[in-house]
Amino acid sequence: MSIPFIDLKSQYRRIEDAVKRGIDGVLEHGAYVMGPEITELENRLSNYCGVRHGIGCASGTDALIMALMALEVGPGDAVFTTPFTFMATAESVALLGATPIFVDVDPVTFNIDPDDLRRRIDAVHDTRPDLTPKGVIAVDLFGQPADYDRIEPLAHNNGLFLIVDAAQSFGATCKGKSVCSLGDMACTSFFPAKPLGCYGDGGMVFTHNDELRKLLVSIRVHGMGDDRYDNVRLGINGRLDSIQAAVLLAKFEIFAEEVGKRQEVADRYAALLADVEGVTAPTVREGNTSVWAQYSILARDAAHRAELMDRLKAASIPSAIYYPKPLHLQQAFAHLGYGKGDFPVCEGVGERIFSLPMHPYLAAEAQETIVQALRG
Ligand SMILES: *Cc1c(COP(=O)(O)O)cnc(C)c1O
Repeated sequence: MSIPFIDLKSQYRRIEDAVKRGIDGVLEHGAYVMGPEITELENRLSNYCGVRHGIGCASGTDALIMALMALEVGPGDAVFTTPFTFMATAESVALLGATPIFVDVDPVTFNIDPDDLRRRIDAVHDTRPDLTPKGVIAVDLFGQPADYDRIEPLAHNNGLFLIVDAAQSFGATCKGKSVCSLGDMACTSFFPAKPLGCYGDGGMVFTHNDELRKLLVSIRVHGMGDDRYDNVRLGINGRLDSIQAAVLLAKFEIFAEEVGKRQEVADRYAALLADVEGVTAPTVREGNTSVWAQYSILARDAAHRAELMDRLKAASIPSAIYYPKPLHLQQAFAHLGYGKGDFPVCEGVGERIFSLPMHPYLAAEAQETIVQALRG
């Protein structure tokens, strides 16, 4: 039997009836866009996260763009973020004409390094006197919260906003609080492969701030004012489909249980990997919980990683590299002027990291097969 990298089929088998009922409901009432499912989902998810507002939107990328637009980020502004993330994190900044300033990552959590963040905030007036520092986007890579105890005060003491890119970490907590309740706004994604995914694209912005909520609701529909043909600012078409919201409502019923199962899978991996020579299993910092969007391990070096991934491939076990090229070395960001060696921790980790199959339905025997293949 083959082992899938993520297993959405097993999940579907469990929730098939609820998903079909939800989709049927939308087909019956006909409000395909901004139907009643949207408000219901926004209420359920914001309650779960302990945050006042959730604003459903079309994708995690749109969530980031809408959050930055609500904060009026534009040309001449600088936003600090990590180069060890998915394209969308820094792309959203650049799309609005602002400038991402990259910060190196922590070698253990792979999230933004607060010490390097402080250094780069302190240096920005010398390094980029042409820019106005505006904010920080922290990413909870692979589902583990960034170091918000240090990042949040650092941002706020320097007059910077904090956006949490929780695209991979919906359901994760930091000292008992949901990551989506942290920062000025938190943005998540419902792309199918994320811990809470729909059957297409979707996303949500969370905030405690009533004023920001109003702006986000307006920006989501072309900057609408009192009605949709009254446009008081520029916005986008950033709406979440009713059908996707119906799918998410069905999936959310089993989400907490799935988070528990993901943790069990992660614990089993950690136990199995403990005696595998040269492999470093992930560490979740005290006070954090991860939702294990990916289970990413480190090989000794690039050659060792290639060898381990070959062994998996020979056993028909899928694995993947997140991310093969850090953002500061992407052609799309060449104009920022970064080069190899600028973010040594990020680049070092990037040569050694790879991800094993991870989903709530991964059986203990499959995990044993996977780790046995790694042993060679
Ligand atoms: C997936 C992802 C996004 C973008 O989400 P989409 O829904 O695919 O637009 C943004 N940031 C991070 C860290 C992601 O993993």
